[in-house]
Amino acid sequence: MSATTAIADDEAWSAVLARDRAFDGRFVTGVLSTGIYCRPSCAARHPRRANVRFFADGAGARAAGLRPCLRCSPDDVARDERAVLAAIAAIRSAGQPLALADLAAQAGYSPTHFQRVFARHTGLSPAAYARALRAERAAEALSGEDSVTQAIYEAGFSGPSRFYAANEGRLGMAPSAWVNGGAGVTIRWAVVDTSLGAMLVAATDKGVCRLSFAEGPEALARRFPRAELVEGGEDFAALLAQVVAAVEAPGSAAHIPLDVRGTAFQEAVWRELQRIPPGETRSYAQIAAAVGKPGAVRAAGSANGANNVAVLIPCHRVVRSDGSLGGYAYGLAIKQALLDKEGGRDVGG
Ligand SMILES: [Zn+2]
Repeated sequence: MSATTAIADDEAWSAVLARDRAFDGRFVTGVLSTGIYCRPSCAARHPRRANVRFFADGAGARAAGLRPCLRCSPDDVARDERAVLAAIAAIRSAGQPLALADLAAQAGYSPTHFQRVFARHTGLSPAAYARALRAERAAEALSGEDSVTQAIYEAGFSGPSRFYAANEGRLGMAPSAWVNGGAGVTIRWAVVDTSLGAMLVAATDKGVCRLSFAEGPEALARRFPRAELVEGGEDFAALLAQVVAAVEAPGSAAHIPLDVRGTAFQEAVWRELQRIPPGETRSYAQIAAAVGKPGAVRAAGSANGANNVAVLIPCHRVVRSDGSLGGYAYGLAIKQALLDKEGGRDVGG
């Protein structure tokens, strides 16, 4: 790196390869072969390392005869951030989608460019962000409300049908099953012995709603105080056998139906966890980045910890970026045992 910046070349190059947005505004990547300079996160194909020279800022790159990249606008980092934050504030206070053209005009950008800038920061288009926000608010309202319909209207949806449409494709119980502590829902459960100790499995007719270790039916009753809890049952036995097999032989969990709930963000994290293959681990930062919110590392950790269905949503495959185990709701011994079963590396402690 040129003497004007404190970031070592190796670190800068790693940031470029990772398209790490956290480095945007801290240096620019000059590409000598093309004569342009980029922000570290530029989505364009990576140049060859030999053609790259790092500069502290755009001025330094321009002094060396380079031009700013038209795709990533490396000189607009601060302006982009202000524009995105202003748009988020406007959408949050409006509580509904705002016209892209209006949001862009406020920022002084063209609609296409503003959509790209917004997506770069949030992982979503402004319209999708507004929809996710409404779904999240609906989920929060539902968990504390008596009436599904009332919660839907309070969250700003025009009617129940639109609510269901917005929730399609999400993990989650039908709204009637997750209001009122599970009132009207039958939950079948069993505690079984496994190589990891006593394991509680509970399911509605939609899928597994709780998998935990060292927990009995009284904990289940606290979680679903108004559900009808039934121990065992013939239909449940078949599902239970699949669950036990998936815990003992990792990798066979994909087909098991789940019945879980969370905010839109939590569910995005849980879906991402399900994409981690057995035998591999990810860091909290990688999960946050994968759901399009690279700044939300702590929130990703919380969403990981809020997982109600251990193993089937493999939150044990998330470790600290330094390779140490991090936390686990049922203790690090079980986390390590699960990782060992999957043939992953020993991540230490
Ligand atoms: Zn670029």
